[in-house]
Amino acid sequence: MDKASAILSLPSEPREFGFFLDGKWVEAGDRDVFERASPGHGVAVTRIPRCTTDDLDAAVASARAAFNDRRWCGLSGADRAAVLLKTAELIRARTDEIAYWETLENGKPIAQARGEVGGCVGMFEFAAGLARSLHGDSYNNSGDGAFGVVTREPVGVVGLITPWNFPFLILCERVPYILASGCSLVAKPSEVTSATTLLLAEIMSEAGLPDGVFNVVTGSGSSIGQKMAEHMDVDMLSFTGSTNVGRAVVEATGKSNFKKLGLELGGKNPQIVFADADLEDAADGVAFGIAFNTGQCCVSGSRLLVERSVADKFADMVVEKLRKVRVGDPLDETTQAGAITTDAQNRTILSYIAKGQEEGATLVTGGGVLDIAGGQYIEPTVFTNVTNDMAVAREEIFGPVIVVIPFDTLDEAIEIANDTEYGLAASVWSKNLDTALTVSRRVQAGRFWVNTTLAGGPELPIGGFKASGWGREAGMQGVEEYTQVKSIHIEIGKRAHWVE
Ligand code: NAD
Repeated sequence: MDKASAILSLPSEPREFGFFLDGKWVEAGDRDVFERASPGHGVAVTRIPRCTTDDLDAAVASARAAFNDRRWCGLSGADRAAVLLKTAELIRARTDEIAYWETLENGKPIAQARGEVGGCVGMFEFAAGLARSLHGDSYNNSGDGAFGVVTREPVGVVGLITPWNFPFLILCERVPYILASGCSLVAKPSEVTSATTLLLAEIMSEAGLPDGVFNVVTGSGSSIGQKMAEHMDVDMLSFTGSTNVGRAVVEATGKSNFKKLGLELGGKNPQIVFADADLEDAADGVAFGIAFNTGQCCVSGSRLLVERSVADKFADMVVEKLRKVRVGDPLDETTQAGAITTDAQNRTILSYIAKGQEEGATLVTGGGVLDIAGGQYIEPTVFTNVTNDMAVAREEIFGPVIVVIPFDTLDEAIEIANDTEYGLAASVWSKNLDTALTVSRRVQAGRFWVNTTLAGGPELPIGGFKASGWGREAGMQGVEEYTQVKSIHIEIGKRAHWVE
């Protein structure tokens, strides 16, 4: 069958996974098991162990032993790079398999999942270069009697907690950078999308990563995640998820060992469209920015700020685009937007759609559920007559729902854009260089796009301002994040004595 018109089949029975400890699979045994149903089809697709806190302790001990005996951090950057490059090659070879399980557990379109796996290959390739180029600094300017060296050393054992919206991509925006630095790690994926994290651990073992350097424990956030945040032998936690759970994690780390913390949290990201923009391009970008991954992206452009003179016309253009988005079976190659990943998220999105109407906003398109393939689907939805104080304009909906807010001046656009607790991402659409540059410099956001949206690559660091998080992942900063800085002061020659 022609790939472009193919629909892949569902598995005949759920795939059983163990968890990954000290370089080996461990079967679920008598542990409870979490059975995951595909959100796109409502049928069971995977079975994953609910690890115990003893399993977490064992994984941390394994990562600790690997770090302390220097089997990974003691290698040269070149040797670490070789493993990362081999991993890239193996991921590329298993693209279809990884994308398939990602789609089944997450509900995202298979073609998109495959594209994301391709992006992950690039992350490993780029991070391999960083393993070789990571370096410190030196000071030769302290006189003939002294020499200063600044080194970057791996933080140690990293705990990695990831969400369900991009299970493999978010993982690969972190793991190769963590490993490039020389750290070892224990990953805890979201309980609903653990399969591809487990596959990566297996792949890395095959690529030559020493045992114990990358462990995966599966289980719930409230048990395993919380315990990982509290763990006294985890040196750093990289947490990606909601701002509320991020707050709990900060509290847990403060009450334990003050582990170093990286936080990538929520967003309520503005798309700022000026009348002088290429409105056709902007409408397409805005539709993509909210319908891609069914709006379940931390960086989804969920607030459309548009210059009043073109606001009505532009809202119509976006509505027209969104009505054409092919929402469908995630296993269908032609689908552009798939299922809503969890039941809870489905309820949350629908409750915000109801709330927007209660608040007096006008629902101009969407708002309904779609009956597709036995799964849970929501139409791309647009609200107009929105003010920035409404809940639909302030709170992260994490679904295919965009609100339209007009503005009159550049200053007002910037003020509305920044009037949010978040500061994750923003886009500006304008053909005027002064406008685009001024907005890009004054909007508080860790990622900014000019005449595009949801773009990036392994070179560009990601992270947020304000309540969207702390620290950066990816890019050169992404590897530096997993290091700590040591100053070494070296005395040269005879000491000038303090006591005569
Ligand atoms: P979530 O916060 O519910 O869960 C994220 C992870 O944290 C999961 O692995 C979960 O099991 C774990 N967890 C839950 N409770 C925990 C606790 N008490 N202690 C430790 N870990 C715990 O988020 P989600 O629903 O999986 O993902 C959606 C959210 O993630 C959205 O808010 C989105 O904006 C955010 N997100 C942010 C980024 C970013 O880069 N800024 C990227 C993707 C998603």
